[in-house]
Amino acid sequence: MSDPHLLPAISANLALVRSRIAAAAARAGRDPAAVTLVAVSKTHPAEAVAEAIAEGQLVFGENRVQEAAAKFPALREAHPNLRLHLIGGLQTNKARDAVRVADVIESLDRPSLADAIESAAQREGRLPRLLVQVNTGNEPQKSGVALAEADGFIAACQARFGVALIGLMCIPPAEADPAPHFATLAGLAARHGLATLSMGMSSDYEIAIAHGATMVRVGSAIFGHRPAA
Ligand SMILES: *Cc1c(COP(=O)(O)O)cnc(C)c1O
Repeated sequence: MSDPHLLPAISANLALVRSRIAAAAARAGRDPAAVTLVAVSKTHPAEAVAEAIAEGQLVFGENRVQEAAAKFPALREAHPNLRLHLIGGLQTNKARDAVRVADVIESLDRPSLADAIESAAQREGRLPRLLVQVNTGNEPQKSGVALAEADGFIAACQARFGVALIGLMCIPPAEADPAPHFATLAGLAARHGLATLSMGMSSDYEIAIAHGATMVRVGSAIFGHRPAA
C-alpha cells in the first residue's frame, strides 16, 4: 500500500537529488545534462512512480522482470516517453520477458545470457540497449563479469550486438571506497570506446559523477527506504 504521507517527500527528494547531480557535475566540469538520473522504483508501488512522473522523471530502474512487467505497461500507456532500465541480475529464462519490457538491460554479464537475449530479440523483433555489468570487486555472490574476463566479454558483446551495446555498469562492494571501482569501470569503458557509464547509487552518486558516470541509479534517496528483503 502506498502511504499518502510519503508522496510529497518524493517531489522534494527528487528536487534535492537533481540539484546535487547538477552541483556534482559542475564541480567535475561536466555538463549536468550528460548525467541521466535513473530513479530506482523497485518495491515501491506504481503510485510512487506516478508521483515521480508528475515531477518530470521519465527514466526508471527495476530489479526484477516480473515486478517491472506488472508495474510499467500501464504507466507506459499513459506516458509513452517512459524509459525502463532493468538493473538486477537476470536469469536466462527471464530474457524474453526482459527484452519485451526493457528499454535498457544493464546486467548483461555472461555468454549464456548474451545468447538468451540475442534469441529473444530475434523472436520479439526488438533489442533493448545493453550494458555489460562488471564485478569490479570480484565478489563471488554478485552479478557481473569478473574483472579478468571483462575485456574479452565486452569485445565479444560488441561484435555480437554492435551499437546496441552502449556501455558498462558496476556496483562496488558495500563497505569499500567506491572511487577505485568507478575509476576501473571508466578505464574499461574508455578502452572499448563505450560512452555510457552506469555507476553510483544513493550513497555515492556524486563520487560516481566525479569519475564520469553518465547514468546514476538512485532509489532510496528518492522513494525512501525499502522494506527489508
Ligand atoms: C537497488 C539498486 C539501486 C538503488 O539503490 P539505492 O541505494 O536505494 O539508491 C541501484 N542499483 C542497483 C543495481 C540496485 O539493485
